[in-house]
Amino acid sequence: MKLDGPYDAKQVEDKIYKLWEDSGFFNPDKQAQTNADFTQTDADKKRNRGVSVSQRKVRVSPRQSFTIVMPPANANGNLHAGHALVMTLEDIMTRYKRMQGFKTLWLPGLDHAGFETQVVYEKKLEKEGRSRFNMQPQELYNEILEFTLENKKNIESQIKKMGASCDWSRLKFTLDNDIVKEVQRTFKKMYDDGLIYRGQRIVNWCSKHQTSLSDVETESKEKKDAFYYFKYGPFTIGTARPETKFGDKYVVMHPDDKRYANYKHGQTLPLEWINGPITATIIKDKAIDMEFGTGVMTITPWHSDVDFEIAERHQLDSQQIIDMRGKLLPIAGEFAGMKITEARPKIVEKLKAKGLLEKIDENYVHNVPVCYKCETAIEPQILPQWFVKMKDLAKKAADAVKAKKIIFIPDNYRKIFLYWMENSIDWNISRQIVWGIPIPAKICDTCNDGFPDLENTLTTCPKCQSTLRGDPDTFDTWFSSGQWPLVALGYPNSKDFKTFYPTTVMESGSDLIFKWIPRMVIFGLYLAKKVPFGTVYLHGLVNDAKGQKMSKSKGNVINPLNITEKYGTDALRIGLVMGNTPGQSLALDENKIKGHRNFANKIWNASRFVLTNLARIDADNYADLRGSKVVLSAHQKQHLKELKALVGEVTKLMDNYKFYIAGEKIYHYFWHTFCDKIIEEAKPLLADSKTRQATQYMLLEILSTSLKLLHPFMPFITEEIYQQLPLKDKKECLMVAKWPN
Ligand SMILES: [Zn+2]
Ligand SMILES: [Zn+2]
Repeated sequence: MKLDGPYDAKQVEDKIYKLWEDSGFFNPDKQAQTNADFTQTDADKKRNRGVSVSQRKVRVSPRQSFTIVMPPANANGNLHAGHALVMTLEDIMTRYKRMQGFKTLWLPGLDHAGFETQVVYEKKLEKEGRSRFNMQPQELYNEILEFTLENKKNIESQIKKMGASCDWSRLKFTLDNDIVKEVQRTFKKMYDDGLIYRGQRIVNWCSKHQTSLSDVETESKEKKDAFYYFKYGPFTIGTARPETKFGDKYVVMHPDDKRYANYKHGQTLPLEWINGPITATIIKDKAIDMEFGTGVMTITPWHSDVDFEIAERHQLDSQQIIDMRGKLLPIAGEFAGMKITEARPKIVEKLKAKGLLEKIDENYVHNVPVCYKCETAIEPQILPQWFVKMKDLAKKAADAVKAKKIIFIPDNYRKIFLYWMENSIDWNISRQIVWGIPIPAKICDTCNDGFPDLENTLTTCPKCQSTLRGDPDTFDTWFSSGQWPLVALGYPNSKDFKTFYPTTVMESGSDLIFKWIPRMVIFGLYLAKKVPFGTVYLHGLVNDAKGQKMSKSKGNVINPLNITEKYGTDALRIGLVMGNTPGQSLALDENKIKGHRNFANKIWNASRFVLTNLARIDADNYADLRGSKVVLSAHQKQHLKELKALVGEVTKLMDNYKFYIAGEKIYHYFWHTFCDKIIEEAKPLLADSKTRQATQYMLLEILSTSLKLLHPFMPFITEEIYQQLPLKDKKECLMVAKWPN
């Protein structure tokens, strides 16, 4: 027997993966040639019923496709536990649909992951005592490219290790030439359609990473700071940031605030301020909250979003106070060149000495936006950047979701999606980093404008004839990954695009509900006029055994590849899925995975028992077993009836994306019904020649059906056993065997 000893995943997994790859069945075009018997739909069968054999021209519908475009994995490190869950869930969906006869494509991809990768690489440089700021852009780019290509190979082999049945012949990388070209064409098209503009607007600036970031690349962090009240002429103003106040010369109040009814909009007042006398101008604006502080504030349009909006409305000037490295500019007088943290107490001291400090509230708790990578406080800055006009695009995306063109699993994410679409602001897509897709544009420093230039032919400004320079910036990585389902399939003209777009499911981490999912919907609707997927399945975080978020600093990171090495990939896969409801975070417990390795052994041993007892029959005899000679007892018939009911239940659960329950059902059935009851009952019956054959038939029927049901969850062990079953209608691989019905 080949099923000797306990199950040894190491002996099986690489061999089986090679078998699958060699079979070519990951590729939907190959499946089409072999699964012809699947192509009759129920409607076809109905039509064909009653047609006499001689007249029969069996009508067959083109096979329905099932497509998942893999969220491109960041090619900047190793496969982590979150990836392992992605690979498992998407592989379950793919294998299930493939067995059901769908023309199934799971398209694998890898992401250059712009800012993310550059941050990883900058850390590496730091460790080596180097800095990106001492390197030529091209030199840095080449180094990151080499690093990424190395990681890309690594992560591909790790995805294979997880058993992913994706079509490697269609592998895409977000820096593939055709993808880069298409993403750049989208930029030009959106500019021509008035959806992209170059604007001098306030953006989020990380002074450590020296780039602007979009709103979704910042995080809100609760901080306790001092809140200061200063005399500002006849008013009292409150601020947590005295260091920004050097240029404040507008004092703003609500037009309905009775306390300040005597002051008129536009009126000027001389007053004493940090570095001497200034003239302040009264501005009345409804954005002011009358309840907050004294209802009066001064504004710093260069360094605050709210203030920027007020200044835009009244066309007020704005002045930069803090430079791009977070130091005060000459406008700060004696404080120029100081870091904010150093300057703040000194500025307060000076205002106190001048008698302008009223009081300090030491316990002011507020949320401060920080860079999501380095937690440096974001310093808003006004910069010329490229922006996407979001309002109309977001409305179309929201409308499509409201019209149920996209279903969310779990359903509560629909609301979150709509919230983001209803509150989206113009999207800054310029990044001041080298690692990314270059923005194909030229910049005019005279009129601070920019012009798309795909062919690289523009040399003088169409507006003022000044000499243009190339835009050194790259696209926000979400600008390209937002187009992923389109460009990965070869939008707009490829056969694949026509066959597989819109895709069926987008499976992704729930944290991408505002970063990535909406952008894909927006680009899908804009470019292809169709939503990119019909279903969005969102999984939660994978935490450690205690339910705590994994982090390098806590030292609780679980490497999924160590787990597969110890317990086998199948054990990890079913452990990641069973009991894991979508959208909820899950605790990855090594003991649980160990338990699932025991389950793999249980499958192995039960299969060995069945196969040993079938030793005397070959595939042809098995066919006879299915014929009239087999007489099952009423009890055995009941077992097969129960099996059929299980198939029905599991199929329904799989169709409804309830893999976490489906996995559990099969697990319990196999262990507690098949192994504990049916096999035990069968032992004496196999010893009796009168009941042997029927019992053999029943056992083989239950085993082969169970292996099919288990295959999407535990593909390696089930395939290995299937290869040894004496079945007459056996397929080359269990992977393409027909799902039982
Ligand atoms: Zn940063
Ligand atoms: Zn110009």
